[in-house]
Amino acid sequence: MIRITDKSLCCGCTACVNACPVQCIVMRRDREGFDYPVANPDICISCGKCETVCPVLNPQSESDPLAVFAARSEADMEGCSSGGLFPMLAGKYLQEGGVVYGAAFMADMTVGHADVTDSAGLERLKGSKYVQSDLYAVFEEVRDLLEDGKRVLFAGTPCQIAGLDNYLGGRKGNLLAVDVACHGAPSPGLWEKYVAAYEKRSGGRLCRVSFRDKSESWRQYSVKYDVLSDGVVKSHRVHKMDDPYMALFLQDMTLRPSCYSCPARNGRSGSDLTLADLWNVSEVAPEFDDDRGASLVLVNTDAGLRMFDALVRDGLKTVPADFGTGRKRNAGFDAALTMPEKREEFFKGVHSAEDLIGYMSSFVVRKTLFRTVYEKVHTFLAVIKKKLLR
Ligand SMILES: Cc1cc2nc3c(=O)[nH]c(=O)nc-3n(C[C@H](O)[C@H](O)[C@H](O)COP(=O)(O)OP(=O)(O)OC[C@H]3O[C@@H](n4cnc5c(N)ncnc54)[C@H](O)[C@@H]3O)c2cc1C
Repeated sequence: MIRITDKSLCCGCTACVNACPVQCIVMRRDREGFDYPVANPDICISCGKCETVCPVLNPQSESDPLAVFAARSEADMEGCSSGGLFPMLAGKYLQEGGVVYGAAFMADMTVGHADVTDSAGLERLKGSKYVQSDLYAVFEEVRDLLEDGKRVLFAGTPCQIAGLDNYLGGRKGNLLAVDVACHGAPSPGLWEKYVAAYEKRSGGRLCRVSFRDKSESWRQYSVKYDVLSDGVVKSHRVHKMDDPYMALFLQDMTLRPSCYSCPARNGRSGSDLTLADLWNVSEVAPEFDDDRGASLVLVNTDAGLRMFDALVRDGLKTVPADFGTGRKRNAGFDAALTMPEKREEFFKGVHSAEDLIGYMSSFVVRKTLFRTVYEKVHTFLAVIKKKLLR
C-alpha cells in the first residue's frame, strides 16, 4: 500500500490512484497546496499495484535522444510559449480524428488536464501554465480510448508521462506521449490563493492568464492578466520578474518537493518527443533569432521521429542541433535543482498572510541594477527590431 512519508518521493502523477482495483486511494491536499495519494487501509487488498506503477519507485534509466532539432511552426506561434510545436502537433492529431490531452485553465482559473477533439478547443491547451495540473481521472480515460483503437496525443510534464506509461504497462502504438522540458511545477493551492488575492486587489474576476505573453519580447516575456470588471475586460501586463508569482516560480521557491530530485527528467519519462524553449537560439539557430520564440525538440523514439518527419513535410522549419549545445542555459535539463533555503519559511507564512501579494513580493530576490538596466535595454531593442521587421 502506498504511504507517503517523504514528500520528495511523490511527484503526484496519480498513477497509483488510477491503478488501484478497489479505488482505495484518493488525492489529498497538503498545507503547501500540493496533492498526495492517501490509501484507505480498511479497503486496501494489498495487491501492490499502486507501488508497481509509481515512477518514483520504478524510475526509467536516463537516455539520450535519437535526434535534436531547433524548430518552429510559423503558423502556430501565437499564444504558445516557444516555437509553436505543441499546437502544430495537436492540430495534426485532431485533423486525423485523434484526441489530444493537455493542460488547460478551467473556468475558476484552476489548471487541469482536458481532452480536446476539435481545433476550437485547442486554444485552451496552448501555452505553459506554471501550476501543477490536476490529472483528475484522465489516465483511465486515455486507457479506454486506446483500447477502443483511438489515436491519442498526451502532453504533460515528464513525471506525468512517466506515470501514464507505468499505468498503461508499456507503450501502446496509438499513443504519442509528449513532454515539456520542466524544471518544476508550482503549488496549485498557492495559485488558487494568488488568484483570490489578485481578484480582491483588482476588484474584478480573472478570466484569462497568459504566463508567457511574448507580444513585446519572447526572452523578456510578461505575465498577462485579463480581468473582467463591470462587463469590461481589462488587460494588465507585468514583466516576468516584477510579477511575484512568476518570479518565485523562476527562483524555484514554489515547486513541488519532488521536483528538486525529479525522477523523470532527462530522458527518463519515456516520452516520444520533448519540447523545450531554445534560449540560446542565437548560438544554435540564428535564423530563428528574432525574439518571437523558438523550440528545442528532442526526438526520443522511432514513433517520435515518424511524427517529426510528418511535421517537416507539413512545413515545420528545422535546424539540426546537438544535445549538449541545445540544452545549455536551460534549467529544464539541469540534473537537480537546489531547494531555496527560505522555501519552508515561505510556505509557512502563506496561510497567515493578510496581503498575499505583498508577502510573496517580500521573498523575491531583487534584481541588481545592472540586470534591471540590461533587461530594459533588451526589451526596448527587441520592440524596435520587431517594428523594423514588420
Ligand atoms: C511547469 C512547467 C515548467 C517548464 N519549465 C521549462 C524549462 O525549465 N525549460 C524549458 O525549456 N521549458 C520549460 N517548460 C516548457 C515550455 O514552457 C513550453 O511549454 C514548451 O517549450 C512547449 O511550447 P510550445 O510552444 O511547443 O507549445 P505550448 O502551446 O506552449 O505548449 C502547451 C502544452 O504544454 C503542456 N503544459 C502546459 N502547462 C502545463 C502544466 N501545468 N502541466 C503539464 N503540461 C503543461 C500542455 O499539455 C500544453 O497544452 C515548462 C513548462 C511547464 C508547464
